[in-house]
Amino acid sequence: MVNDSEKIFLTEQEAKTAVEIDFQQYGPQPRLFRELSPLILGNSAVVLDHGKHAGVWIKQGRKNKLKQLRDQELGNQLCRTLQTTAYPLAILAEICTLTFQVRACPGPDLRDSPQGIWIESDMGNFHCRQCGDCCRNLAVQNGCTEQDYHRWQRLGLTHILERVRVLGANGNPTGYRIWVEPGGTRLSPVCPWLKEIPGENRCTCLIQDVKPEICTQYPFTRKHASMTGCRGRF
Ligand code: SF4
Ligand code: SF4
Repeated sequence: MVNDSEKIFLTEQEAKTAVEIDFQQYGPQPRLFRELSPLILGNSAVVLDHGKHAGVWIKQGRKNKLKQLRDQELGNQLCRTLQTTAYPLAILAEICTLTFQVRACPGPDLRDSPQGIWIESDMGNFHCRQCGDCCRNLAVQNGCTEQDYHRWQRLGLTHILERVRVLGANGNPTGYRIWVEPGGTRLSPVCPWLKEIPGENRCTCLIQDVKPEICTQYPFTRKHASMTGCRGRF
């Protein structure tokens, strides 16, 4: 993933994974699933908008017998098909536009990698109210990346490193957990870097300049903000 201020470049696989994460993160999204079905499932999907049979029906078997899928089943079917099908990039961009509710278009990366999808983050006018809700409520424990960990190592930030649990054995990390109690493996109930500013009704992050990428990128889009209860202004 490459960040170009308000635009993010995703490879084809990263774009598919991001769509899948959106589905998992927010649960069934019936209207979105209906809009995506013709794009992802092609002719095997029949979308009925009105009447008692409204919903998405899938053609099955040699006789193309129709079966209606419930929202959850449909979400799973969309994910499976998305991951196993090669789409023209223009279609994948349209899938991203509908899913993330932002502009997305195909194009080359600024470096030498193949074509992918450029996503506009639509966060240019976002104003964080520093309420701290995201720090209290979002599950960031699996969000620490290898790059985060190496950055903290390079900068010698031992007070942060001691709150990271490295998974894996024999010097081969397989993942990271944040934030654990120092010297232990138990996760802290609240992020230890969140500090309320007395009398100001706002919070600050004690590691603001070096916080993990997952925190820097929140909220990723306007949809992300609204689906996760962010109180920021646009
Ligand atoms: S590290 Fe900072 S931004 Fe991230 S959850 Fe903690 S207080 Fe919030
Ligand atoms: S929930 Fe939104 S407004 Fe509140 S601190 Fe997080 S990003 Fe800022």
